[in-house]
Amino acid sequence: MHKFGTVALIGPPNAGKSTLMNQLLGQKVAIVSPRPQTTRNRISGILSTDEAQVVFLDTPGIHQLRGKMNRFLLEAAWSALAGADVVVVLLDASLYAAKPYMMDKEIKPLVKPVAETGRPVLVAVNKIDRIKDKAGMLPVLARAAELWPAAEFIPVSALRGQGTDVLLKRILDFIPEGPAMFPEDQISTAPVRFMASEIIREKLFYTLRQELPYTTAVEIEAWDETSREGMTVINAVIYTAQKNHKGMIIGKQGANLKKIGSEARLEIAELLETKVHLELWVKVRDGWTEDPGFLRAMGLGE
Ligand code: GDP
Ligand code: MG
Repeated sequence: MHKFGTVALIGPPNAGKSTLMNQLLGQKVAIVSPRPQTTRNRISGILSTDEAQVVFLDTPGIHQLRGKMNRFLLEAAWSALAGADVVVVLLDASLYAAKPYMMDKEIKPLVKPVAETGRPVLVAVNKIDRIKDKAGMLPVLARAAELWPAAEFIPVSALRGQGTDVLLKRILDFIPEGPAMFPEDQISTAPVRFMASEIIREKLFYTLRQELPYTTAVEIEAWDETSREGMTVINAVIYTAQKNHKGMIIGKQGANLKKIGSEARLEIAELLETKVHLELWVKVRDGWTEDPGFLRAMGLGE
């Protein structure tokens, strides 16, 4: 019997959703950053084994969202829930063990919408590798069980891969019978162009300090696989909402842009399995975070 189904990964920003998806897939599909709200669009990863094909939907963090762009994010998250065979909620147990009050703040808003889907819920209690005193997990588990009486709790470290095999086994129990829908070697439903722009955005997050990356967007302007033998030539634009940010993104003598470009190029080359020539530009576009037409063009709207 072969199985096919979808899994929604839900949780507050920084809980480890992208890390978990990459871990389960054994490949990097979603971008990960130490700062919240890195995942903007819904991104999927496809796991294919002999017995099953499972599509994981990595949803943008759900929290107190304001503004047009954030409404798009929220809608993307809830629509992922509605279609899933099983919902996996991720908690950062290390955060809640240290700051118990954060748990109600971050988790409570998720309880009702998830329950309303009527889907089975698995709670992945994540980042257990960071909890030295395991007794610190008890109040976290107790409160989580109050909030999710019907759920099953599975302690994991998405980063180290601890407990993720147990989680995957339980996920598969909820996946219905069905044929594979994607070629076995396809790792994401996202087009490679989009994945390339996400890789560039990840490098922005790592290279730039402060809040800068939150008001940037990356657009692939040109993608040419034919004019240079064995090489993909990519032109990408980093849009920023503010004029004075342009220079900060570029850096002294272009140092930041160079770093972002060379790190992204290596990773995109790995993804495409070819050589890559990457050109990066920075352009100012006022108020893009509130412009529905531009958001749609960037794949951030409906
Ligand atoms: P997302 O916002 O839910 O997608 O979270 P990410 O997957 O981007 O992870 C946020 C941060 O938490 C990153 O710095 C990850 O490396 C880190 N992280 C995720 N899972 C674990 C874990 O199991 N253990 C530890 N120590 N860190 C983790
Ligand atoms: Mg993420």
